Parts: sequence; C-alpha cells; structure tokens
Amino acid sequence: MTRCLDCGAERATDQCSACGLTSAAAEVMLRRRLFHRTAWFLLGAVTFLPASQLYPPLELDAILIFVGVLFFLVLGLAVWIERRARRHAEVEIMKRVYFGFVPVPWLLAALLFANGKFDTAPRTPRVASVVGKFSMRGVLRSSRLVVTSWREGQRFERVPVGRDDFYRFRRGDTVVVEIQDGRAGIPWVYAVYRR
Ligand SMILES: [Zn+2]
Repeated sequence: MTRCLDCGAERATDQCSACGLTSAAAEVMLRRRLFHRTAWFLLGAVTFLPASQLYPPLELDAILIFVGVLFFLVLGLAVWIERRARRHAEVEIMKRVYFGFVPVPWLLAALLFANGKFDTAPRTPRVASVVGKFSMRGVLRSSRLVVTSWREGQRFERVPVGRDDFYRFRRGDTVVVEIQDGRAGIPWVYAVYRR
C-alpha cells in the first residue's frame, strides 16, 4: 500500500480515490507545494535577521546559531523529500514535519519583536568594561561589543550594538549596558552608553 503524494490518502490504484490525481500528477503537485513552502520558509529566514536586531536579545549569537542549524536541517529535509518523491517512496510523515517547520522563522521573528516591543518592565543598568569588539559582514551585518559579564558563571557578554556604538567605544572603556527582561522572558539590550 502506498500513499498519495498530494493528499496522503492510501491508494491501491495509480489514481488516488480521495483527490483523483494520478501518481504522476500528485508528484507534480507535491513538488509545487514544496517549492512554495520553501520560498515562504526562506522569506521568513530573511525577515528574521533584521527583525532579531530591532530589540536585540543578549543571547543573540546563541539564537542565530540555533536558527542557522535549523535552517540547514529544514532545507536538507526538503531535498530529501523531493528525492524520495521522485522514487515514489513514502513521504507523508516527513512532509508533515517539514510543513510544520516552515512557519518557525516567522514565529521566532514575531516572538523576538513582541518580546521587546511590549516590554514595560524597568531597565536594569549594568556596568561593564569593554574587552573587545567584532563586526560581522555579509548578510548578518551586525556588531558586538565584548564586555565583562555581570552574570554569575559567565566571563563575557557579547552585546549586540549598532554601527555608531561599535565605533564609539574602545577597549578599556567602562560602559553601562541597559538590559530589559523581555515580555517573553528573553533579556534584550536597550542601550549602551558611557558612564
Ligand atoms: Zn490523493
């Protein structure tokens, strides 16, 4: 027993009794859906990058690594489904997992945006000294100040900053990093200024 590539119903003959498509037509439909969802997923990932910098989380780098790994896993899954569909192998479960992952970049972007936008908690000033800084080029185009950490068990914080702040501060500067707790409990950086 095989399943229809389009609607997932079990079918005994070449033509699916549920949606009426032949196996060749169902394969074309599946490929078209994969293409649309993948485009939607990529657009979400492209939206996520600038959205994550509006109210930059303190742990932005860890979040970016997570999203990067997810990105390649999901794209790999799409390629795998496409290859299996070409051999007319079973794809139903993988297809559902894949379609479930498609909105994730959009949801993460919305989460980080709402986390900062609707945060009404008071800001907490943290005094730290700048020990280094670096800037990423390419699609990410974001800058970090590496400062001494105020959190227990952690030596440094990689604070996301804008271009101006990146050039304004130097190693050895004492700065105040204003942190907000975040509506969704994800601490984010409100501002960095000289003490
Ligand atoms: Zn069908």
